[in-house]
Amino acid sequence: MTTANRRQILGGLALGAAGLLASKASDGAAPTGTAHAFGHDVSPGADGQVVVPHKTEEPIAFKYGIDASEPKITSGGWAREATAHHFPISTGIAGVHMYLNPGASRELHWHAIAAEWAYVLDGRCQTTVIDPNGTTEVLNFGPGDVWFFPRGHGHSIQTIGTEPCHFILSFDNGNFSEHGTFSITDWTSLIDPKLLSQVFGVPAATFANFPKGETYIMQGKVIPLDSPAAQEINNKVSPNTHRYKLMQQKPTQDFPGGSVHLATINDFPISSTMAGGIMKLKAGALRELHWHPNANEWQYYAKGHARVTLFGSGGRMSTADFGPGDVAYIPQGYGHSVQNIGTDECEIVLTFDNGHYQEISISEWIATSPPHLLANNFGVDEAVFANFPKTKVYIAKA
Ligand code: MN
Ligand code: MN
Repeated sequence: MTTANRRQILGGLALGAAGLLASKASDGAAPTGTAHAFGHDVSPGADGQVVVPHKTEEPIAFKYGIDASEPKITSGGWAREATAHHFPISTGIAGVHMYLNPGASRELHWHAIAAEWAYVLDGRCQTTVIDPNGTTEVLNFGPGDVWFFPRGHGHSIQTIGTEPCHFILSFDNGNFSEHGTFSITDWTSLIDPKLLSQVFGVPAATFANFPKGETYIMQGKVIPLDSPAAQEINNKVSPNTHRYKLMQQKPTQDFPGGSVHLATINDFPISSTMAGGIMKLKAGALRELHWHPNANEWQYYAKGHARVTLFGSGGRMSTADFGPGDVAYIPQGYGHSVQNIGTDECEIVLTFDNGHYQEISISEWIATSPPHLLANNFGVDEAVFANFPKTKVYIAKA
């Protein structure tokens, strides 16, 4: 439990106790002049404060240095992870940066508690995934491609070609950990070889040279890109394919200050529980104040530097600066903005724990609200809003 949560709960208990005392005190007493229905007993006049004071304590810890974290390493590569264990705010989404050497494979495995969404940063790999219908798809991936493996579907990832391959993984459960994946060598090394012999109809001795524990990411022979092994098989078409060539699509949003490529359930149907994509911001550009009504947001900073504000209600606002290798977590419904504070373009991998993408931006809300309401709300003249944008800004240029 965070300090903030504990204080809120203690505060709630205190209020509850006060309410109990108040009701006891009034037991049996006749109604008095001050015991009115809500709102009638408080004059909004001189005693009412014009604004509620800000809270400057209790910053929200929404930044995590995933690339600076301790990796899980085996013979063929490594994974660094951000889970709710080390990054407590991230209850809805966990993430991993995984790096595979040429010739390495992340072995056959599955996840009991989360689906897997991925964006390939660099290099080439081949994924193999089996669905509950017994159909296996083998597909190749390169930079800018996205995959999605539904929860529990068996999968593996193997580098093809002579370059290393690395990618960002995101999981729709903050408690997911790479230390809790169900790997096939972990299983086969724990079970009696006689059972394997019975299943596969081969002598138990066949398994004598199998690994004695989880290989996780295993180093093997390099697979040339032009070799038969690098061919795709069982290439499914939408809605069942698990590949989406995200960066070969037109941007979902395109502005002078930047762009967003997004894969939602509408574009990539198998990705039913997550949406995700890439946001690029030019120097000085600002992804405006907005929130997501239906999802938590997870961000991995791939390139550039940005300043993120997070509005947590109740007078709480936190600001943090992010660079390559950092992760941000925006809880569902929390207001936020992202500004490129560097001199180069900023590139951010975004994921959401809902296949449907939803957002509300402050510029669109102001643009579509009646001026008399805005004048009242902000205590200024209606004319103040005359020159405000008439449509959603989305990304404001520098
Ligand atoms: Mn996996
Ligand atoms: Mn957002």
